[in-house]
Amino acid sequence: MEKKNYYAVIGAGPVGYVLSILLALRGFKVELFEKRPDPLTTSQSGEWRSTNLKIIKRSYPALRRVGVFEEFLNYSIEMFQIKTILQNQDEFEILFRGNLPGSTSYSINRVEIQEILARRIQDFQDNIIVHYNACISNVQIDQQSFDVKYSDGKIETKRGYEMVFGTDGIHSAVQQAFLTKPGFSYSREYNGYGYTELQIPALETQEGSKFRIQQNTFFHWPRNNVDVHMWGLPNFAGDINIGLFMKVTGEHSFEYFKKSGFDVFQKFMFEYFPDSKLLMPNMKDYFDKCNLTRIVTMKCGPWKFGNFQLVGESAHAQNPFGGLGFNASMEECVMIDDLIDKYQCDWNLICDDLYKSRKLTADKMNEFGDQQFTLYKDQLYDEPVQISLILQDYLSRVYSDIFQSSSQFIRFDDKDFLECLKFIPVENQLIDDLVKLIPDILDLAKTSRFDQRVFEIVDKYRNLTELASFKNQKSNIKIDKQNGYAFENLFAKYMSSYKQYTPEI
Ligand SMILES: Cc1cc2nc3c(=O)[nH]c(=O)nc-3n(C[C@H](O)[C@H](O)[C@H](O)COP(=O)(O)OP(=O)(O)OC[C@H]3O[C@@H](n4cnc5c(N)ncnc54)[C@H](O)[C@@H]3O)c2cc1C
Repeated sequence: MEKKNYYAVIGAGPVGYVLSILLALRGFKVELFEKRPDPLTTSQSGEWRSTNLKIIKRSYPALRRVGVFEEFLNYSIEMFQIKTILQNQDEFEILFRGNLPGSTSYSINRVEIQEILARRIQDFQDNIIVHYNACISNVQIDQQSFDVKYSDGKIETKRGYEMVFGTDGIHSAVQQAFLTKPGFSYSREYNGYGYTELQIPALETQEGSKFRIQQNTFFHWPRNNVDVHMWGLPNFAGDINIGLFMKVTGEHSFEYFKKSGFDVFQKFMFEYFPDSKLLMPNMKDYFDKCNLTRIVTMKCGPWKFGNFQLVGESAHAQNPFGGLGFNASMEECVMIDDLIDKYQCDWNLICDDLYKSRKLTADKMNEFGDQQFTLYKDQLYDEPVQISLILQDYLSRVYSDIFQSSSQFIRFDDKDFLECLKFIPVENQLIDDLVKLIPDILDLAKTSRFDQRVFEIVDKYRNLTELASFKNQKSNIKIDKQNGYAFENLFAKYMSSYKQYTPEI
């Protein structure tokens, strides 16, 4: 018998928790199944991926609707800049925030998000039953059923829900069942790289925990000479969560270091990431327990068969360099919530609308993640990329009234993602014009000086969100001078925040 307004949610990751609470807020009954133990009663170590997430404006409505936004702020750190530390230890900073108030991003550990949501869901005990240690398998789309295996080994077949949401991540059991359905398209790609975690622990002082390096900063250590990249995201407790991205096999790979042992790994780290010598006293502990998680991208569609619907990472998985997976999924939870009103609980219409509105966006976010991975890992020493980053940073700081970079649109605005993407060619064109028309543009960037000529060119692009509309208006710009820049490290010459490394004695 169908249970009206009775829902199953499979997987208590962030998406499963949020979706369950949104349904419960409508008075619906929900059963949430999670194969892992309760994060509030079990040691997190080894049980949950603990990497940090960058949370942006796109997630705020979902966090507000489920009533955890304030708590989220308490457990996160706002980030204002990206600091890039080059192989020679020189460094520079790029603005990492939007122009409008509140257009920043927050770094939060995944464990904290899980715990915040696990606590919040306890407020809905009348409507939500959470089954931890409950692993789902044998999803039968046509029978509208699935099996649950509990920790005592008991297996129960469940059926009769109005809808079943597969929020069970990239290796989703629901998605596996879709593979048996004609018309389901699916692609999964491993790019040969993976990540593991290290940590810069907080410095314990008499006044409390402190950061060992500057606060409110997203760190990058690009090492394209060895094909390894490291990033660092701050935590409210004063530590920095480090993501070390490297090849899965081959030279300088995870497999190589695990086989060779800690001494070889440490020597490599000290050579290519000299700061790790001072900043990571706990490197061995992390090395001993670390695993590699492979970077995978996944696209599929449609997201609904029968009364089963994929949401979150089970529907689209992206390269983490895009920083959009969680944020996009939160947007989709809010969309579902709004569509329930629009279609008065007609789930065929709700899910159709969601898929039509979001499939292309999800695919484009996927591509964006891969592009960002290549950009940060490989392209920072390419001249056009350097010029573009220097000028984006200059324009977004000095002409913030009339300019917002594509990165600011994508990361700090809550505009439709596809609309944000259209600004990338506009920005490329603007940067092209500036380089061609203003011979001293990079010197201006270096000194952060306002310049009327720059203002006038940027002003022509003001409020333009796609190249086609600009081309119609652009005929009055004459390119009268070509200007070439041919330096190996343009950041050193022209990034206003560039600092040469000065060893502390
Ligand atoms: C290194 C890294 C960095 C990232 N950084 C960012 C970032 O900065 N910003 C951002 O927006 N996104 C980021 N992401 C992406 C983000 O982590 C995911 O988008 C998000 O976790 C997806 O949440 P989810 O709830 O859909 O899936 P998951 O978090 O994978 O949760 C799925 C849940 O389902 C459970 N489950 C699985 N199978 C079963 C089963 N058979 N039965 C019962 N339960 C099951 C799992 O145990 C898990 O709890 C990053 C990802 C990685 C890997």
